[in-house]
Amino acid sequence: MLSNVSPISRDVGLAQTRYSSPEDLSVRQSVAAYMREIAAMNESKFILPGYRELDRKRIMLRRQADRYETCGLEYAVIGCKDCKRSFLGPRRCESRICETCARKYSARIRQRQQQIVHSLQPTKRKRLAMLTLTKKSHPRYRPTSSDVRELFRNARKLINHFWPKRLGCGAFAVMEIGANWNLHIHVLLYGHYVPQSRISEYWNKLTGDSPVIDIRSIKKPGQAVNYLLKYITKPKKFNDPKETAHYVNLLLGVRRIHSYGIFYGQGLLPKTGCPCPLCGGKLQLQKFDPGPMMPETARFFAEVFKMEDSPGAIN
Ligand SMILES: [Zn+2]
Ligand SMILES: [Zn+2]
Repeated sequence: MLSNVSPISRDVGLAQTRYSSPEDLSVRQSVAAYMREIAAMNESKFILPGYRELDRKRIMLRRQADRYETCGLEYAVIGCKDCKRSFLGPRRCESRICETCARKYSARIRQRQQQIVHSLQPTKRKRLAMLTLTKKSHPRYRPTSSDVRELFRNARKLINHFWPKRLGCGAFAVMEIGANWNLHIHVLLYGHYVPQSRISEYWNKLTGDSPVIDIRSIKKPGQAVNYLLKYITKPKKFNDPKETAHYVNLLLGVRRIHSYGIFYGQGLLPKTGCPCPLCGGKLQLQKFDPGPMMPETARFFAEVFKMEDSPGAIN
C-alpha cells in the first residue's frame, strides 16, 4: 500500500444532491412502482411452455425498476488496484426511459456511426436513404415484445431482400413507438434505388396488413445519423407513468440499434473498461454508496478528466 493512503474519509456530500433533482425522483418512483406491478402480474404459478421466458423478463423488469429509481442517487466507487486511489462517479441506470442515460448512450455511439456513414461515398448506383416502415396498429391492443421482435425480423427480411450484403449494401434500424402504440422502424440505408411501390408491396406481404412505407434519399450524411439517433437520445414521453412502465416492458431484451448487411457486426460502442486515468492501472468497482463519507483519496472522475487537459496538474 502507498503511504499517502489514509483510512480517514472526507465528506463529498450526497450523490443525490449532486446528480439528481427531487421532481425527477417522484416521477421515477411512480414509474418504478408500475414496473413492479407489471412484473407481479406476470408471475405464473403454472409451468406452461413460455413461463421461463416470462420469469426471466419479470426479473429483468424488477431489476430495471430498482436501477431506474436509484439512478444518480448513489456513488459508484471505483478503486485502482495499482495506485490505490479511488474514483467517484454517479451510479447510472442505463435505462432507455432515463434521459440522462439515453443521452450518454447516444453520445457514445454517435461518433462511431458518423465515421461509418461518412466513409460511404455516394456512387452512381448507391446512395444513403432513410426508410420508414410502419406497422398497422389495432385499437385496444398494446404490442408485446414478441411483436417488436417480429417486426425487426420482417425489417431484416426486407432489407436483405432488396439490399443484401453481397451487393455491398447495409442498414441500421431503430424503432419508434408512435401515438396509440403504433410501431415504426426507421432505417438508415446504404444501397441502390428501388421503387417505393415495390418496397411497399413486399412490406405488406411480410407483415400481412401494412403497406405503408416511406423512402427518401439523404444529401448530408450527418443528418442521417441525427435522424436515427433522435429516437434513442430522446426517450419517448408518456403523460402516464403506467404507460411508461409498459413501454419499458415492451422493450425488454430488444436491442436499440439493429445493423444489417455491410454494417452488421461493426462495433458501435467503444469497449468499456478503461484503465486508471492517473496511473494506467487496473480499475475495480468497490461499492455503491449514497455518500457522504468517501475514501480520502477519492476524486471525481469528472474532475480527473478535466485535469487531464492541463498536463502537470495531477501529481
Ligand atoms: Zn491508478
Ligand atoms: Zn439513468
